[in-house]
Amino acid sequence: METGAAAIFARHGSKLIQGARYAAQLLRHRVPVLHGHHIKEARGRERVSGAVFARTGPDGRFLAGTEKFRQVDSLAVGHGFVPNIELPVQAGCRVTHDPDLGGWAAAVNADMETSVTGIYAVGETAGIGGAEQSRVQGELAGMAILEQLGRIHRRQPRWDRFVKKRHRLYQRSDECRSYGALLNRICRVPAAAYGHIPDDTVICRCETSPCERSSRLSRTDSLPGAASRNPPAAAWADARPGHAAPSSSKSLRPSPAQIRKPSGRLFPGSR
Ligand SMILES: Cc1cc2nc3c(=O)[nH]c(=O)nc-3n(C[C@H](O)[C@H](O)[C@H](O)COP(=O)(O)OP(=O)(O)OC[C@H]3O[C@@H](n4cnc5c(N)ncnc54)[C@H](O)[C@@H]3O)c2cc1C
Repeated sequence: METGAAAIFARHGSKLIQGARYAAQLLRHRVPVLHGHHIKEARGRERVSGAVFARTGPDGRFLAGTEKFRQVDSLAVGHGFVPNIELPVQAGCRVTHDPDLGGWAAAVNADMETSVTGIYAVGETAGIGGAEQSRVQGELAGMAILEQLGRIHRRQPRWDRFVKKRHRLYQRSDECRSYGALLNRICRVPAAAYGHIPDDTVICRCETSPCERSSRLSRTDSLPGAASRNPPAAAWADARPGHAAPSSSKSLRPSPAQIRKPSGRLFPGSR
């Protein structure tokens, strides 16, 4: 049985190699990399001219006395990715909030079918996890659609091969999800970071709306995940009664009984 580093390499080896290549490129070009630091302030009048950064503790709070200033001519700040759920929401598909998926994402079963029968969501509509996850999920959805359309069925000689391939894809899909969860955990904005934003910081330049205002609004409105100091709460999950979420979005692989009867739906009431 694989343990420790060997198991991690077996599951995420390609990503580790990819990461090592990027790190080597940065090293070659002498780009300094500071771990455990966040940008604290952007300074400038007409345009950004400097940035203050500081060391952060494990909870994301700035450590006093570690601030440093550096002149800059541009500043890019990124905190992971957010699933694109416009299309599934418009189609009436249920969405679920899971920080391991990058926030709000279309709720899907193991075959990537949403709560609306016949609508599938793959890739970054169903959670952030990288290019391979999107490809694997696309294949799973394609196979489920072929079966739904009756293009493949258990009386055909190629059925066994189909089932075996799908099983391998379920496994890979789980592995990609665990990598995605790790990625989203590393890139997540720590809740404590919201507490650092001074009240007068302009959050929306169009309306010159300060942080204090959006904080106040998010306390009174029930907007989940609004830009505020309050971490998002799961509130849309019950938007469509009768379409309960899978009990855990971390492993959506169906039980053996469900694999034998693949047209069975994991969403109660979806058919
Ligand atoms: C800067 C950057 C670097 C990355 N680096 C890596 C990496 O090194 N390794 C890795 O594995 N992944 C990386 N990724 C992530 C990877 O690109 C994604 O995981 C992958 O592309 C997701 O595939 P997808 O099919 O879900 O979405 P996309 O590739 O984004 O495809 C979605 C498509 O849908 C279209 N679309 C969107 N909305 C609508 C609409 N309303 N109507 C019609 N069409 C619409 C878009 O135009 C787009 O063509 C990176 C992403 C970015 C942004």
